Amino acid sequence: MLIDAHVHLPTGNTVITFQEKKEFLLAGMKKNGVDQCILIADSWPVSEIGSNKDCMSLFPAGNCDGVHVVGGISPLKDFDRQLEVIRFGIEKKALVGIKLFTGHEAFYLTDERLDIVYDLALQTGTPVLFHSGWDNRQYSDVPVAEKIAKKYPELRLVCCHCWYPMIGLAQRLFDYPNVFFDFSSVADEPEKYEKIAEEAELIIRTVPDRVLYGSDAFGCSMEQHLSFFRNLDLPEEISRKFFAENAKRIYLVPDGEQDPEIT
Ligand SMILES: [Zn+2]
Repeated sequence: MLIDAHVHLPTGNTVITFQEKKEFLLAGMKKNGVDQCILIADSWPVSEIGSNKDCMSLFPAGNCDGVHVVGGISPLKDFDRQLEVIRFGIEKKALVGIKLFTGHEAFYLTDERLDIVYDLALQTGTPVLFHSGWDNRQYSDVPVAEKIAKKYPELRLVCCHCWYPMIGLAQRLFDYPNVFFDFSSVADEPEKYEKIAEEAELIIRTVPDRVLYGSDAFGCSMEQHLSFFRNLDLPEEISRKFFAENAKRIYLVPDGEQDPEIT
């Protein structure tokens, strides 16, 4: 079983319609042996990577082709309306998470306008994902994320990109069992591979139940990420958690339900 816990619909000139984007994603999954993926929608109501509504209608609950949607939301755009869409999506089991694009967008993880989002996530047992690292790191840097992890100990908080290229910073949040690390996009720059591989291996081995394989396709390459992470020296049991079981537990098995397949 292989789950890519972080993908988006493709952009560009060859895939224009959402139907074409859907087919491109499914073909990419098949080619790379990806059984299921977590598809992250944009927080904007009109977007090339698909809005919440676009993604939910392409991959509806119960008939989703192994593609599970995370909804995006932003305090900077149509907030109330998007919140209702997300609430509805979670109720219908069409959404498995909520993404905050901190850094892509100029708001902090601690922005008070997000309290209602965290409350919704807590009430429904839905994980909250946030963009980290790359440019404009300050909006979701370690101390900011720590505040939220501390304020909401029951909230499952997924740090996307693990503050790349400073992925070693993850160690500072090892003491917060509600924080998870998504390694999407960290295998994007071959000149940094050696250092990243060393740090990634340390994190994965130290907190093996809190790490998620992801590619950030199609901004990044599925092939490149798979080969990078398969080259790490990981014990079989940890590898299974990283490549599938953790994602399944965090996103796909609702709170309180036992997953018979995870033993
Ligand atoms: Zn992404």
